[in-house]
This record gives sequence, C-alpha cells and structure tokens, in this order.
Amino acid sequence: MPARRLGAEWVYPVTAPPIPSGAVLVGDDGRIVAVGPDGEVPRPPGVPTEHFPSAIIMPGLVNAHSHLELTGFAGEVDEPRFDAWIRSVRRLKETRSAEDFRVAARKGVQQCFAAGVTTVAETGDSGAVVEALDELGGRGVVFQEVFGPHPDQWEDSVALLANRIAMLQTSASVRLRIGVSPHAPYTVSGPLYRAVAAFAGDEGLAMAVHIAESQAESDLLATGTGPFQEVWRARSIPLPEPLGDSPVAWLERHGILGPGLLCIHSIRVDEADIDLLARRQCSVAHCPVSNMRHGHGEAPLRALLDAGITVGLGTDSEISASTADLLAEARLARELAGLSAAEAIELATIGSAEAIGWGETIGALEVGRWADVVVRQSEGGVTADTMAERVLYSSDEDVVLATVAGIDRYRRS
Ligand SMILES: [Zn+2]
Repeated sequence: MPARRLGAEWVYPVTAPPIPSGAVLVGDDGRIVAVGPDGEVPRPPGVPTEHFPSAIIMPGLVNAHSHLELTGFAGEVDEPRFDAWIRSVRRLKETRSAEDFRVAARKGVQQCFAAGVTTVAETGDSGAVVEALDELGGRGVVFQEVFGPHPDQWEDSVALLANRIAMLQTSASVRLRIGVSPHAPYTVSGPLYRAVAAFAGDEGLAMAVHIAESQAESDLLATGTGPFQEVWRARSIPLPEPLGDSPVAWLERHGILGPGLLCIHSIRVDEADIDLLARRQCSVAHCPVSNMRHGHGEAPLRALLDAGITVGLGTDSEISASTADLLAEARLARELAGLSAAEAIELATIGSAEAIGWGETIGALEVGRWADVVVRQSEGGVTADTMAERVLYSSDEDVVLATVAGIDRYRRS
C-alpha cells in the first residue's frame, strides 16, 4: 500500500492533547510514521497529500461488542421478556440462510465504516463476519460462539467448535483474529465452560462471554429459579451444580476468568465480583444502550473503572441497540457514570482497543500504530477544550473518511 499524508484543522490523537493544524503521515506498511503539527510532519516527495480544512482527524472507533451478522434483523423480534427474546433470536437465526448472514455481515461492516468504526469485536456463530471483514478490509476479532446447556453435550459442542475454528483460522490475518465465546450461563453447562477454556488455552485463542446480564441469569445460578430454569426443566437439563454463585463467581468456578477475558455486559456484579474481575485481569465490554433497552439496569461503570478494570464500549446487536452507533453508547456511558466527554471518547477508542487485546496497535494516533483513521467534519469554532464534546455529539453524517491501515474503507460521496 502506498504511503500517504493527511492534514486537517485539528488532529485529535486521543492519548495526547488535540493538535491545531495537524497532520498524520502514513507509511507504506499502513502504520503511522509521524503525527503532529503540520509544519513538523515530513512531506516526503511523491507521497500524496490530502488536506481537510474544517475537519478533525482522529483514530477509528473500536466497537468492543457487536453482532454484525444480525444487521437488518431489527424489528423482527419483539419480546419484552429477555428469556423469550433470546429464544426468538435463536429461532429467527434458524430461518436464515448462509447467504442471508453473508449479506447482513457485509452490510454491518459497511455501516461500521460509515459511522467511523474501524474495528469490531464480534460474537456470532455463522462465520459470515469473518468473511466480510476479510473481503471488505475491516479489522476485528471474531469470537465463535459455542452452545450446550446440557452437561452431557460438552464433547459434541467442543468438537463442533474445534472444526469451526480450524475453518475460520484460514482467514486469520494481521487484521483479523479468531476467538471463542462460550455464550452465557443459561446456554452453556459448567463442563462445557471448562472444556472451552482448556481448548482456548491450548490454541492460544482469545475468549469472550456474555455475563451478568439479566436477572433471569442470576436467578438460575443463585437459586435455580426463574424463566431459564423453566425452560431447562422442560428440556430435562439438570440445574447448575452447585447453586449459589453469582454469574462472575460461576465463571471463576469453571476456570474461565483470566487475563484478557472479555466480559460482555457485566451488569449484575457486586463488590466481590468486581474485585475478582480486577484480580483476574478481565476486561469488560460495556453496552449501556442495550442494557437500558432490555431493562437489565445499569452496569456499575464507575466502580469497574475505579477497580482498574479495562473497559470498552459495545453496541451489541441492532436488535438490542444498534449496529454501529458507538457514540450513542459513549454518550450514555458518560451520563450514567459522570464521565467527562474526553473519558467517554477514550472508552470508545483506546479503552475498547485495550479491552479486546489491541491496546498497543490501534485506538490512538501514535507513531507505530496502525493508521486506522477517521476524518470528521467540524464546521466552525472547535477548540482543544471543546474537541471531545464536539466529537461525542457529532453524527455519522460528519464522517468524511475512514481508513484501515491507511487504506480508504469509506469516503463520503
Ligand atoms: Zn451480545
């Protein structure tokens, strides 16, 4: 890929103060070679230059939890009760063909680019998002989901997972990682959690879990009651053994908690759970819009951050929240936890990058990082002090350009 130079009224590196009249030089390997005031960034001969007069150059947003394979599925599931909602999503997915998922995934990746999201941490089971990211030049980690609530199912589930992973790994690249996701305590048995953790350890795969999301999930694990228990009983699935754990403690019991584990949602966590997540160096994907829409309540974002836990932001799916409106998540996170605008933007960029294990290479404009860059229109009067605020409350329509490793992936027409 050829080197290029981008300049704008402002450069907002996120991990450093905004730079008035700044520029970014991208090397022919797709990484940032220089970033700073325009006069200090080299202009190598023959390198094309582009200048955006009323605009902000900033890092691409990083979506720490997506379900892009469900793009376009909004409006097809209407169940107020979470357990019924989950089953409806499963049933809906069963009616969809591989081609449907392919179309949805491509649409999802393109929507991300247009919204200034250049990296996603996807969980799904169709494999379609791996293909879409590969073909469309997006960056991401795709966690292949595995299910199996009956303890006797675990060997079959792991065998199936191993097959799927072997297939998906053929598409892995410097832009695209494959991971695993034992879905949630109400769809995965204790033995399956253990087996998947062992498999991920052997294969060196990153892992993500939906955890501590609904009251129904907590009830199943704590007392063996509630709507998930009713479904389990109808399917002759034995109750979790032993009862009494919180969702996070249940993961600890089954050897899942460990450095880099991405804990999606993490709403119903008490002080002991937060302490455990911090000690085990787990990350959290915070999805405040989804949490609110489902009526799950609020995750204790401030307490998670204060405990030193790495937190990123995720949109969850279009059925729960949106495909790519990460700034909406950042705005709500700000409101709920009393963050500054700059802290909210950090969560959506470097925070999410760290949460998904890419903290050294994306999420900020710094020399050596990938040139995953977004240019946003910013007509009139933005200052260093109002920069974060301006970005946080901007709309997708302000996105002029999005690049991954310096290559255009979206350009406003
Ligand atoms: Zn999710």
